[in-house]
Amino acid sequence: MYTEIYGGGYLLYILISLPALLLGLWAQSKIKIAFNKYSRLRTTSGMSGAEVARRMLDQNGLSNIRIEETSGTLSDHYDPGKKVLRLSQGVYRSNSVAAAGVAAHESGHAIQDKEKYGPLKIRSIMIPTVQLGSWLGPILFMLGLFLSSQTGDNIAWFGLILFSATAAFALITLPIEINASNRAKEWLADSGIVYSSEMEGVHKVLDAAAWTYVAGAAQSISTILYYLLLLSGRSRRD
Ligand SMILES: [Zn+2]
Repeated sequence: MYTEIYGGGYLLYILISLPALLLGLWAQSKIKIAFNKYSRLRTTSGMSGAEVARRMLDQNGLSNIRIEETSGTLSDHYDPGKKVLRLSQGVYRSNSVAAAGVAAHESGHAIQDKEKYGPLKIRSIMIPTVQLGSWLGPILFMLGLFLSSQTGDNIAWFGLILFSATAAFALITLPIEINASNRAKEWLADSGIVYSSEMEGVHKVLDAAAWTYVAGAAQSISTILYYLLLLSGRSRRD
């Protein structure tokens, strides 16, 4: 019986996960192309990513946030625990349109943290459940699936619900990312650091980055959908 389920399962899994996987590949190439293009376009103001972030943070009463240079490409992030903004080399030192966009986006996360932005608070509360659910959820799910009894069903459902926390996390990340990008676009345009003729590049880079998060959420949801079909299919057979 199980071979029957899993035999069809592979095809089902490919069918369900393919659209989100393709969306992910498309988004990855979109961000790479946009970042490469606008990394070569220097802003008229000539400010480096580090300088842009420093000014945006200072103007928002965040002089206490440190800015550090970190290794890797597009590894830029804000660490709310340590109150540190880490910018990759290609952003920290570069005076490009792409660097200004990314630096302002990360500063946007620091401002969200200061303003106790709702979705960000909810996401931080979710982290322990997500960490547990991401590994324990699939184990319980598989275990429940192999125990062909009502108890097995219950265990599988519990595993599925626990694992669903990862999709909830991916979904709540979307408003957080879009909000940070909106703050960046608004501030960059108002501050005059990026001229209006250069803003197109900021939009292209940040919008492409947002698509990678949309793809991440879609991948997470499609995995849960697959688990759901696997479980309901088994219930019918039993
Ligand atoms: Zn972000």
